[in-house]
Amino acid sequence: MRLRYKPGAKERLMSYPQYVIYNVQERKGKWQELFGNDHEIHVEIGTGKGKFLTEMAKANPHINYIGIEAYDSVIISALDRLIEADLPNLKLLNLNANKLEDYFASGEISRIYLNFSDPWPKNKHAKRRLTYKSFLKMYENVLVPQGEIHFKTDNQALFEFSLVSFSHYGMKLNYISLDLHNSDFEGNIMTEYEEKFSSMGHRIYRCEVQFPK
Ligand code: SAM
Repeated sequence: MRLRYKPGAKERLMSYPQYVIYNVQERKGKWQELFGNDHEIHVEIGTGKGKFLTEMAKANPHINYIGIEAYDSVIISALDRLIEADLPNLKLLNLNANKLEDYFASGEISRIYLNFSDPWPKNKHAKRRLTYKSFLKMYENVLVPQGEIHFKTDNQALFEFSLVSFSHYGMKLNYISLDLHNSDFEGNIMTEYEEKFSSMGHRIYRCEVQFPK
């Protein structure tokens, strides 16, 4: 993701409290209250410019979505999409997702999406990959029992690493595609990175995995 400083981004984000949520620690255990219903909550970590989650929220009004993105200069584009679409079932959080347990109670999230997560190719940076075992532990702590992670990437090395990480953690592999765009998977919603990399001829990998308990 190209990180270009955007003057005024923070202020603009803060001027839409119906879409961009701050004081997130106060929301812990009360996210459904914020949405005003008891629908499932699905979270995307590293939501980027928000194409995937905006389209998912439009297509699935019975699901509550939360997009988490660390950079204000990036999530500002997701806010623009959300203002345009005016969706009640999508909220954005401008923060680093490495402390999810501070923001969500145990069992509060039903599914986590990881799309085109940063690959951190050097071995010495493996712990930063969002599918490293310490992240899986954190996800398990905030997901419902047998909660799911849906993961897409064009990076073969990250995909291989992640499958091993899921497997070592004892997760169930419910779906794997080594070439999503040439598979029979229906209803795929493309992310910004997916559009970019598939147009360059990259193959897209996808899996759905589930915690055992
Ligand atoms: N998911 C989008 C897509 O597929 O088009 C963006 C992919 S981009 C390669 C990865 C994004 O994840 C970046 O915008 C980065 O800032 C964000 N990110 C990485 N680690 C994060 C974390 N721990 N918390 C929040 N955002 C994170």
